[in-house]
Amino acid sequence: MTGVTRRRLLGKGAIAAAAGAAGAAASAVPASAASARTTPAAAPAAPSAPAAATASADVVIVGAGLSGLTAARDLVAAGRSVIVLEARERPGGRVHGLPLGDGTTSEGGAEFIGPTQDRIAALTAEMGVQTFPTYNTGKNVYYRNGKRSLYATDGLLGSVPPDWGVIDLQLALTSLGTMAGQVPVGEPWKAAKAEEWDSQTFHTWSRSNSLSSGARFLMDAFISSTLSVRSRDISLLYVLHYIAAAGNASSPGNVDRLINTRNGAQETRFEGGSEQVPIRLAQRLGDRIRYNAPVRAIDASGSGVTVTADGITVTARRAVVAMSPAIAGRIDYAQGLPAGRAQLMQRYPMGSIAKFVAVYDTPFWRADGLTGQSVADSGAIDATFDNSPSDGSRGILMGFINQTNIRRLDGAPEDQVRAAGLDSFVKLFGAKAANPVRTAMMRWDNETWSGGGPVGIAPPGVLLDYGSALRQPCGPIHWAGTETSDYWTGYMDGAVRSGERVAREVHAAL
Ligand SMILES: Cc1cc2nc3c(=O)[nH]c(=O)nc-3n(C[C@H](O)[C@H](O)[C@H](O)COP(=O)(O)OP(=O)(O)OC[C@H]3O[C@@H](n4cnc5c(N)ncnc54)[C@H](O)[C@@H]3O)c2cc1C
Repeated sequence: MTGVTRRRLLGKGAIAAAAGAAGAAASAVPASAASARTTPAAAPAAPSAPAAATASADVVIVGAGLSGLTAARDLVAAGRSVIVLEARERPGGRVHGLPLGDGTTSEGGAEFIGPTQDRIAALTAEMGVQTFPTYNTGKNVYYRNGKRSLYATDGLLGSVPPDWGVIDLQLALTSLGTMAGQVPVGEPWKAAKAEEWDSQTFHTWSRSNSLSSGARFLMDAFISSTLSVRSRDISLLYVLHYIAAAGNASSPGNVDRLINTRNGAQETRFEGGSEQVPIRLAQRLGDRIRYNAPVRAIDASGSGVTVTADGITVTARRAVVAMSPAIAGRIDYAQGLPAGRAQLMQRYPMGSIAKFVAVYDTPFWRADGLTGQSVADSGAIDATFDNSPSDGSRGILMGFINQTNIRRLDGAPEDQVRAAGLDSFVKLFGAKAANPVRTAMMRWDNETWSGGGPVGIAPPGVLLDYGSALRQPCGPIHWAGTETSDYWTGYMDGAVRSGERVAREVHAAL
């Protein structure tokens, strides 16, 4: 809740509208393809203050990420009229192609899918987007305590590096799996031990349940690489639910599926980039989506909802807010919300993350027998992948700059971050990594309409006391977004599942 006043809203809308080519800020096509614009429904009251456009529909959806787009698809299919208001000039939200500066892109956000992620797989097929296996031939690199070693990933440990203390780690992971099996998927606050597990951080638990520094480091690396937070930031109950959610109704979630490439969540990539899925879905929805239309306020004090965005005001019978709780909390809910929901949105922060990519003439690490995957305990980058196109026509290394590492680089100039990223690649993959053709980076913490990534997380106490507000509609306002999903919360699959669930919910309520 931003505390944005009506007066400021109108002012902002008017300024944006005045700046728009045809007098309205909200546009019906992404900027890249913009050839037509909506026109204001009413004539401007004065030349310096044109009125915002108005529109009405059965349902107004706030956010054109995968969750909002999927909800729109299903509601349209059910015969409902829908308007989607998107703050950015593009669809996809946390799924975005990072321009490489040569007319091509590499995934700046979500990238991989894997087994049991059935709903994103179905949507991908429906959109006619082809997939291919993540490059996974050869050995992974493990860098710890100043020593670089290589390890195979086809053994019992999968992607887990064989550090000293690996037995300790396996015992801890087994115990985590057992506890995760006791967490009801989608309702972790109902676990019999929810009070105990939500009263501690993952850090507290991992220190009490492992002795070796290797096991402790690798458990921290698990949290950093999956959630981009430190293990002290996050509730044990949240992590247990994240594990339980890494499956589907017939295959219970487990840690291996979260962390592995083969048979895991990093198994598969998208031809042309993952953004092809939201882009094609958005194209099908056409001018139902209004871009450059950040929603500032939702008023549910009347019989339905009035949603005020820059350049457009929409009235509807129901609203769907399709984004993370933290970002949803920036909207001004004029009629007030139940305290549980309002407080949830204050208590569910985003992780801190950036993706750094370097482009080379060839994927040289493959010739060296390496997958391009690594885990490191130092340097700016703590995990990498081979992001090359499926034909290997050029090499792209991608590195995650996670949690504390990216916060240390807050405000640092691009060339300093670039140097830090390349230092990591050289340390992990050798001197050839020092001379890329080009580099690019996406800093999610600086993205106003995401506020970080990859996902909203719950510190201790939040799921137990506020978790039930994640999906609970507030009058005519419904909630979607990957954070509200039962299975694969935090992933594209969870976003699609949440969109499908909210569409059923809203359709039934209309
Ligand atoms: C770096 C990174 C790597 C990731 N890797 C993977 C991966 O490999 N595999 C995977 O499955 N998932 C991955 N994810 C997670 C995945 O991207 C998300 O789970 C998913 O895209 C979330 O979709 P969503 O619709 O729930 O939310 P979002 O994508 O956040 O969509 C919300 C939309 O709402 C818009 N919006 C926000 N505020 C307003 C407002 N006030 N008015 C109007 N519009 C607004 C935003 O612009 C956005 O378009 C990754 C994420 C990141 C950041």
